[in-house]
Amino acid sequence: MRIDLHAHSSVSDGTDGPAELVHHARAAGLDVVALTDHDAFDGWPAATRAAAEAGVVVVPGVEISTRLSGAGVHVLAYLPDPGYPPLADELARVRGNRMARLTEMAVLLTKAGLPIDVDDVLAVAGQASSLGRPHVADAMVAKGYVADRSEAFATWLAEGGPAYVPKYAPLTVDAVRLIGDAGGVAVLAHPWGRGSRRVLDADTIRLLAGRGLAGIEVDHEDHDRHARGALREIAAALDLVVTGSSDYHGTGKTGHALGVNTTARGEYERLLDLARRAATTAGREPPRLGVV
Ligand code: AMP
Ligand code: ZN
Ligand code: FE
Ligand code: FE
Repeated sequence: MRIDLHAHSSVSDGTDGPAELVHHARAAGLDVVALTDHDAFDGWPAATRAAAEAGVVVVPGVEISTRLSGAGVHVLAYLPDPGYPPLADELARVRGNRMARLTEMAVLLTKAGLPIDVDDVLAVAGQASSLGRPHVADAMVAKGYVADRSEAFATWLAEGGPAYVPKYAPLTVDAVRLIGDAGGVAVLAHPWGRGSRRVLDADTIRLLAGRGLAGIEVDHEDHDRHARGALREIAAALDLVVTGSSDYHGTGKTGHALGVNTTARGEYERLLDLARRAATTAGREPPRLGVV
């Protein structure tokens, strides 16, 4: 059974529509795929409808932008109730700030001699409900300023770069609590990838586990062999679920093909079991898995 628990659609910064993503998952030989757009649930209906058609199980999820000690930390939430008001409201706030920050990035780029405005970004972002730096990068490519997203990040948009603008994000512990209260399960996304490694040491992960964190995304392309080994040990010591995922973004990110990393069946089943228990404890109706 091939299980990939982290993928983005064009609802955020992926390039496949949600249904298209599910069909691509089938073509990549996956049995289960989680749709985890940044800070938005909007792809769930189309993806779960496509599940039966494609013969793939779709796990509804979301990748929440959070902050911890000044660093950005991504938290994956599986099967939260999307209608739980505190979670829905917090994500709406994040998306609102994402939109506002586009203007600030456009101003910085324009002042640096690369004229661009928010409409240029919206024109390339299509139907996306969660807008971010990758869309600014796409607009820069369309204007011929850079060759691809990677160059846009390396030269302009990465943290500390000349057009970098931070965004609003809830504290990591608060997001973990909201996910649990919404009947979902929280997993740290690529904890030792870019940016978050310096704040997510073993002690901090233990603290988050004590506040309801259920798992760690160990097998991810941002982690080398050593990082994976060390994270696996931390997960084992804390009895956390170990996941593996592609973090697929369509053509928006290279090296993240669907199924490039996968999650063991036993770990996936633990995750589903924890989600069932979280929903019961929280008294929430869990969203249905998009089933085959
Ligand atoms: P934002 O959420 O707007 O701050 O943008 C962060 C997103 O940009 C993350 O989802 C990353 O996947 C993506 N990203 C970061 N660096 C790169 C890069 N070098 N090339 C393409 N996408 C990137
Ligand atoms: Zn992304
Ligand atoms: Fe991420
Ligand atoms: Fe991601």
